[in-house]
Amino acid sequence: MAERVLSGMRPTGRLHLGHFLGVIRNWIALQKEYDAFFMIADWHALTTGFKDPSSIPGDIREVLSDYIASGVDPGRCTLYVQSHVPEIAELTTLLAMITPVSWLELCPSYKGQIQELGGEIATYGFLGYPLLQTCDIIVVKAHIVPVGEDQLPHLELAREIVRRFHHTYKKEVFPEPRAKLTDFPNVPGTDGRKMSKSYGNTIDLADEPSVIAKKVNKMITDEKKIYKHDPGRPEICSVFSLQKYFNAPLVPTIDADCRSGKLGCVACKKMLSERIAAELAPIREKRAELLAHPETLNQIVAEGAEKSRGVARETLRDVKRAMKLC
Ligand code: SF4
Repeated sequence: MAERVLSGMRPTGRLHLGHFLGVIRNWIALQKEYDAFFMIADWHALTTGFKDPSSIPGDIREVLSDYIASGVDPGRCTLYVQSHVPEIAELTTLLAMITPVSWLELCPSYKGQIQELGGEIATYGFLGYPLLQTCDIIVVKAHIVPVGEDQLPHLELAREIVRRFHHTYKKEVFPEPRAKLTDFPNVPGTDGRKMSKSYGNTIDLADEPSVIAKKVNKMITDEKKIYKHDPGRPEICSVFSLQKYFNAPLVPTIDADCRSGKLGCVACKKMLSERIAAELAPIREKRAELLAHPETLNQIVAEGAEKSRGVARETLRDVKRAMKLC
């Protein structure tokens, strides 16, 4: 039996190339190798977006259709919405009793995000979200969690909480989840900064070819390459960074022709936007079809919730037995 992997993402609305190259391609590989559980973490979205959560249901439908249209296959993985599995909240309440506040306060993201987003997110829910994240993982008894370097402290916290539970109640209930260190590429957005919805610099999976062309056209290149014949420096050019993903076989030629002045930025950008549009065409078509049939999406997440709830109920039964609550 393959080991179980758990990964989740907040419902951010339409997904962009950064998600596609970072998260989705990773999930597609994981679903082939592991018993994969993929979750849309809508409660996590509330920790920072509690003031106006009205967009969350629509955002869930958008990300779900992007996942499936891009190749996350509900036939090969368990795909569900976090809040459809209330056992996660029950486990969080039980484990909150043994989780020291100081462990949560020490999480590097806690102080950092409060500084960045302001004191108004200094809530009980935000402080406790690493515990909620722990329960996402252990309620389905996942063995593996794909994480970037920066998320390692959260996984270490999950392991600490698991050990504390086993030590307190003298019973092994959960596997200690292990990190699968994953390289999440730093995909540049149209302004050269990391591609992110909050910077407004994304190329979305749902974008039409004309929109993609417009966005690529305004991308930052080498400022010293003004005319086609000027020698360029691909290593500092955001367009070139994307060519590596979308026109990989042509990269040595693009590199050489940019430097020699044989290739100009207009032609280079055209080549890139056409390739991105071609790659996204089947995804755009499939996502539109899925969004037109919300009953299919509802059915997929209902089946995912049923399967994960089955595992989660057994976990809770084991937890309550260990705690002698039943
Ligand atoms: S030719 Fe291409 S790689 Fe070179 S600077 Fe222009 S856009 Fe960038």
